[in-house]
Amino acid sequence: MKKPSLTILGCHSSIPTEKFYPTAQILEIKGFYNLIDCGEGTQVQIRKSKIKFNKIINIFISHLHGDHYFGLIGLLSTFHLLGREKSITIYAPKGLKEIINIHFKLSYTKLKYYIYYIELSSQELEKIIDNDKIEVYSIPLNHRIYTNGFIFKEKPSNRKLNIEEIKKISSIKIKDYKSIKLGLDFKTNNGKIIPNSKLTFDPPKILSYAFCSDTSFHIPIVKYIKNVDLLYHESTFLKSEEEKAIKTGHSTAYQAAYIAKKANVKKLLLGHYSNRFTNIELFKKEAKEIFYNVETSVPLKKYYL
Ligand SMILES: [Zn+2]
Repeated sequence: MKKPSLTILGCHSSIPTEKFYPTAQILEIKGFYNLIDCGEGTQVQIRKSKIKFNKIINIFISHLHGDHYFGLIGLLSTFHLLGREKSITIYAPKGLKEIINIHFKLSYTKLKYYIYYIELSSQELEKIIDNDKIEVYSIPLNHRIYTNGFIFKEKPSNRKLNIEEIKKISSIKIKDYKSIKLGLDFKTNNGKIIPNSKLTFDPPKILSYAFCSDTSFHIPIVKYIKNVDLLYHESTFLKSEEEKAIKTGHSTAYQAAYIAKKANVKKLLLGHYSNRFTNIELFKKEAKEIFYNVETSVPLKKYYL
């Protein structure tokens, strides 16, 4: 199984410009393609990324500010025009379903595929997906309107077969592989017990990703995102504009790094830059003052967990 990866589609705030798009990213984890936020221009960016529209099965919308969802109606409409039949699930704050329904109702559009809506309104950590491959949680952020962050966690996979060792034991048949992968010891035809550790390797480490945008500097999120492998935390401003960050419910690069450090995350990815800044490296420089493993989001770049 491939390592989870995050493709940044847009990582600027507010207004789309010639070069930069508002928030949108695709997390590929255990074969699931998840679109997180869908600012204007997202579908154009998906095309550039070469990710196939049809692969996306879940959409997560953090909040109902336009720079996080204005691209959604266009994308859903494109799915329809391309003949999509596979259903899609949208996890979003209460109200988005109404916005989308009224739009398609007034344009007399009967979609060829089904949209499942999971309306979010919890002010606590909430598990919103739990299957045999992944778990996803919504977490409350602190912004001007109701806003969620999301945490994606892999589920543990089976142990990996050590084929070289297995081949040495003639009584192991292919039908036995299933129980060996689950960690059971093997009993040979003449009653000898082969410990599982001889027949398998440890499974790959479980990886996790946390998305936190938009939010003001909010210490309570630390407890939810502890030890994640990759944290995307907004950094709309630099320290010099901390007042503005407080007023608008956003964070500075330094504050994002402070959260990353407190939560002991492996890597911090900054984004949601205000368009007023042209030198993105300044965000990294500021965050690095207190947290060493920092990267800046770059449109169409892929980051591995
Ligand atoms: Zn916002």
